[in-house]
Amino acid sequence: MTTRPYIVGNWKMNGTRAMLSEARAIDRAAERLIKVEVAIAPPYTMIHATRKEATLISIGAQDCHPADGGAHTGDVSAAMVKDAGAGFTIVGHSERRADHGETNALVKQKAHAVIEAGMNVIVCVGETETERDAGKAHSVVSKQLKGSLPEGEGVADKVTVAYEPVWAIGTGRTPTAEDIAAMHEHIRSDLQTIYGEAGVDVRILYGGSVKPENAAELLSAKEVGGALVGGASLTAESFLGIIVAA
Ligand code: PGA
Repeated sequence: MTTRPYIVGNWKMNGTRAMLSEARAIDRAAERLIKVEVAIAPPYTMIHATRKEATLISIGAQDCHPADGGAHTGDVSAAMVKDAGAGFTIVGHSERRADHGETNALVKQKAHAVIEAGMNVIVCVGETETERDAGKAHSVVSKQLKGSLPEGEGVADKVTVAYEPVWAIGTGRTPTAEDIAAMHEHIRSDLQTIYGEAGVDVRILYGGSVKPENAAELLSAKEVGGALVGGASLTAESFLGIIVAA
């Protein structure tokens, strides 16, 4: 298993060129923090500029269209984000699943497009509060994994899974470290069913209200290989707080 924690900032629909100074500050500090792998996923419009400003950390996209190109007004393909400087793309974020009705099948198509474009992919899964309260969290996540993960020979080493319980995103609430460990062990077992031996090394990130104050505890849970961070990745100060805690 990869030992370096992977800390990914998801800027969501935040970031104009004024935010490049944050990316630069994160990049400068990341140079010294060689024990942690650091990445930022800015909005499409900022990928190229962020890549130029921050040369040491990884830069990625938050989504892409599954098609190569063509008549899809307003959409952006995997090859386009790669060309803009992205080395990875997030797919299946719960905000995409909820706001744009993205299904597991569509997320899988996107994941394949990302890999075919020569990038790594972060596939997001996670249950809603109602699903957790009904005791269905593990089965919901299993269904998402089976339906959304890309398949095929040699694909597993391009994949990172992000477990993000929907009720923890942007709410300040998090599962306990024990609940996170239980879910991550469950995901690990599913990954081995799907990918065989290669499923052992797929990184599993936790996401949802990760902050400098709780990062050390959440990241120490079993099978947690890093974090996908939303709100707390928007300033260098708080993002670096998480990176240091990792
Ligand atoms: P949050 O978002 O850290 O603001 O809760 C996490 C995410 O949606 O990736």
